Amino acid sequence: MTTLDDLPIRDDLRGLKPYGAPQLDVPVRLNTNENSYPVPEPVVEAIGKALSAELRDLNRYPDRDAVALRADLAEYLGHGLTVDQVWAANGSNEIQQQLLQAFGGPGRTALGFTPAYSMHPLLALGTGTGWIPAARDADFGLAAADAVAQVRAHRPDVVFLCSPNNPTGTALDPAVVAAVLAEAPGMVIVDEAYAEFARPGTVSALAVLPGHPRLVVTRTMSKAFGFAGGRLGYLAADPAVVRAVQLVRLPYHLSALTQAAARAALAHRDALLGTVAAIMEQRDRIVAELRARGHRVADSDANFVLFEVGGDQAAAWRVLLDAGVLVRDVGLPGWLRVTAGTLAETDAFLSAMEKLS
Ligand code: PMP
Repeated sequence: MTTLDDLPIRDDLRGLKPYGAPQLDVPVRLNTNENSYPVPEPVVEAIGKALSAELRDLNRYPDRDAVALRADLAEYLGHGLTVDQVWAANGSNEIQQQLLQAFGGPGRTALGFTPAYSMHPLLALGTGTGWIPAARDADFGLAAADAVAQVRAHRPDVVFLCSPNNPTGTALDPAVVAAVLAEAPGMVIVDEAYAEFARPGTVSALAVLPGHPRLVVTRTMSKAFGFAGGRLGYLAADPAVVRAVQLVRLPYHLSALTQAAARAALAHRDALLGTVAAIMEQRDRIVAELRARGHRVADSDANFVLFEVGGDQAAAWRVLLDAGVLVRDVGLPGWLRVTAGTLAETDAFLSAMEKLS
């Protein structure tokens, strides 16, 4: 069998394994921060109709600039945003890849405050952008002065902020975003994949956009909208940033089917986002219950919870798996991450946790 080493693959890809959480067939899957609720039937029907209306025209390429979809997304985001300030792609992963293609690349660097979303360094790798791991404080917070000092020391071309942060869960104070923006010599990307789950009182970086052309906020329909399989992510930024990513995007990157399905989903946002409150309730229940049992638990503004198991997290992960509950080992010694899903899934998770003690 031919191995990768037999191929003239890039030196920096040699020996690497593809990214991905295990996709195991387990009764309770709480490892990828999906929305546990299936798409409601009326929305299934609406998406079906929208897709079927596209089928006859599949001989034609789709709208390359996805204008109608971007207008819908701008309207959803509010903050006075318009179509020229919004861009869409196949998941926010692709959005961030396009941003690194445009603003990173060989000879340039990107910096992130770890532990954060593990795709950020991998997207840097894939685009030939140097990766600089910066640190969060011991309880996973990020103080403005600390963030600024690390940006000053490295002067990266791109800074990733993640708010609410995956895997720790906590949203950033917009003052941190503003301080980093003032210090950073290049682009600042705020990954807000979980924004819709934030606790009352948190403020999106969308509020900081006016007057800041180097700020980009990325969002996704994968989490709150329960549309992970539809693959739709987007950004909001200055119109010049949108024109920049248009230089690197593949022509027709968003299929006519994706655009139609996403628009139908957005038109039914009330039904889709109707699960958010129930998920937040389960999230808060997990936090409270695990704390009551003596675990250290990070505050969460997302649809997941990072909790300390004490000792070997890989062994604890296995105990939970054997009890039928799949959670995520994010590689943080002593900690695991669990997605908040339905009430029944929380019940199953909390009872599996009893096997740990
Ligand atoms: N950002 C963060 C912080 C995430 O956790 C995820 C999904 N795990 C993404 C972006 C990517 O989501 P998608 O590509 O599905 O939009």
